[in-house]
Amino acid sequence: MKRIIMILLSSLLLATACNTEEKKQTNPFLTEWKTPFETPPFDQIKTEHFVPAFTEALKEQQEEIVAIANNKEEATFANTIDAFEHSGRLYKKVTRVFSAMTSAMNSEELQKIAKEMQPKFSKHKDDINLNEKLFDRVKSVFDKKETLELTTEQNKVLENHYKTFVRGGVNLEKKEKEEFRKINGELSLLSLQFGDNVLKETNKFELVIDNKEDLEGLPEGVINGASETAAEKGYKDKWVFTIQKPSMIPFLQYSEKRNLREKIYRAYFMQGDNNDEFDNKDILKQIASLRLRRANILGYKNHAEFVLAEQMAATPEKVNDLLSKLWTPALERAKAERKEMQQIINDEGKNFNLKPWDWWLYAEKLKKAKYNLDEEELRPYFQVENVIDGVFGLATRLWGIQFEERNDIQKYHPEVKVFEVKEKDGKHIGILYTDYFPRASKRGGAWMDEFRRQYKKDGKMVTPIIYNVGNFSKPTGDKPALLSLDEVQTLFHEFGHALHGLLSNCNYESVAGTETPRDFVEFPSQVMENWSLHPDVLKTYAKHYETGEVIPNELIAKLNKASLFNQGFITVEYLAAAILDMDWHTISKEVTDVDKFEKDAMNKIGLIDEILPRYRSTYFRHIFAGGYSSGYYSYIWSAVLDADAFDAFVQTGDVYNLDLAGKYRKYILGSGGSEDSMELYRKFRGQDPLLEPLLKRRGLN
Ligand SMILES: [Zn+2]
Repeated sequence: MKRIIMILLSSLLLATACNTEEKKQTNPFLTEWKTPFETPPFDQIKTEHFVPAFTEALKEQQEEIVAIANNKEEATFANTIDAFEHSGRLYKKVTRVFSAMTSAMNSEELQKIAKEMQPKFSKHKDDINLNEKLFDRVKSVFDKKETLELTTEQNKVLENHYKTFVRGGVNLEKKEKEEFRKINGELSLLSLQFGDNVLKETNKFELVIDNKEDLEGLPEGVINGASETAAEKGYKDKWVFTIQKPSMIPFLQYSEKRNLREKIYRAYFMQGDNNDEFDNKDILKQIASLRLRRANILGYKNHAEFVLAEQMAATPEKVNDLLSKLWTPALERAKAERKEMQQIINDEGKNFNLKPWDWWLYAEKLKKAKYNLDEEELRPYFQVENVIDGVFGLATRLWGIQFEERNDIQKYHPEVKVFEVKEKDGKHIGILYTDYFPRASKRGGAWMDEFRRQYKKDGKMVTPIIYNVGNFSKPTGDKPALLSLDEVQTLFHEFGHALHGLLSNCNYESVAGTETPRDFVEFPSQVMENWSLHPDVLKTYAKHYETGEVIPNELIAKLNKASLFNQGFITVEYLAAAILDMDWHTISKEVTDVDKFEKDAMNKIGLIDEILPRYRSTYFRHIFAGGYSSGYYSYIWSAVLDADAFDAFVQTGDVYNLDLAGKYRKYILGSGGSEDSMELYRKFRGQDPLLEPLLKRRGLN
């Protein structure tokens, strides 16, 4: 048996050796791309090309790393940092196409490849990060950096690389290093388990409705959706709601059946806290303790201190300071909202006190009574083509840039559109792909990413190739795609990320475009949402799809007024979760009782009983199974910046102020993470960001 295998193996090896050259020529990843702007040749790329391309790419970078680490010459910025920056080109080329495909064109084969390759990728990463010879050379450049006359950007690049090694434990003594690695291993398993449990909890619960009476209050679209869910799950003539938010929230918003609202919401907020096989309390307790231990090994007081050292916020104190400044006015506002809703309950002649599962329904009622806005009225003004014209037109007004559709550039799907982005004078900036409609092979949500990031090689610009993907409302029957308000804002948001990638003007790839601290990166995207709803901008693109009529002033006024709706609740539930995150990651000793810890944390800030944190500990995936530990605050940190930045435009009386737009392009969009983020912000704004514009925008002032 063994022999047969040996023979088979050796003949396979022979075959591989003979075919290497031939394969190189037929595997598009292993050839130069002769396409326009070296865009990916999608018509040639096949699923079977990925594994051999990855194999070759990993080998190539390993050889590059060995060459840098074993260089006999004295370590210099050029032979160490520059060389490191330019290593792994092929790896990036393959990975970027692969990750675009697994997100937007996924298949079982691709998933299989991803699973198969994952351990190889993490080993590759470890082989680089724990390579002591490489670190010694980086360190020797770092130690003499004062004498090297480096630019600000080079300093930042050097410091980043140096810190990545140190934070990865390269400096620890042997025994600590072993413990450090062990902790990392345990943490990754615990996080996986935490996420798995949440997924199982989410999938376990079904609210099955079998009589029409229990559908009271629900709009037709919601009922149809529930009937489809039931059919998918094999129920006949029934309706099913789940605790996934797109299913649960509409139920909470409209259902008049109070017992059912309680049932579904209770299932949601008890996830991972049911003392059964999917309980997450022990797991998250261990995660928090191991993170504390790891931070201590590296010389930090706690995990938050360790994480924040690399963020714009810098310290837990600064984060807590921002959160507490927002907390008091937000809580006051939420209490006022609670009062208004209780009044509606009383007016209805009902005899109960508002509870968490009542909030969405009565907020919806309050919205109708107070703001009289039906968002469906807006849709006819938001035909997708018009919205795209609006966002492109805005970029043209602010920065003079042009968008030209190119039909000679290959697409990975017929619904994708490709644009060449150019300066006013026609100079090429980069390529933008847009892919806006849902399909079975695409994951949910909306995102920006890249096929190639901007950098400079020997002073020559390598231009970016960026894409935006969404899952927006599709054209139906003879109607074009008409977007919801939320979708319009999302399209502007993702376009903001795209601009961050497209207008990048950095030398080094590791700090270019969206490679900024986590609490800064949502600023250039969120700021675009401000423009999307400003009356001056709305009037340029919000035109009725049948009549061409520009959105009427009354509708804009209603829209602006309604923007303050429910902001107390939205801010409070978010802040409560952000504070909970900070509390878990500033502990100084092991926590014994998870529920008590959470309850104490919420009591301490005076959270009202009618609102729960946006995520309770036992299903807070962002912090226990994702990359946002001590980072859930980031969204509001970026929001302070985007509100303040847009306010700068508003204050000039011109949302198209060219002077400010120029500074914004240079220091924010163009500079990526090449300099300290606060420094860049000050250069753009001329002062530190203020909190007031955000408070005002949310009606918390
Ligand atoms: Zn974003």
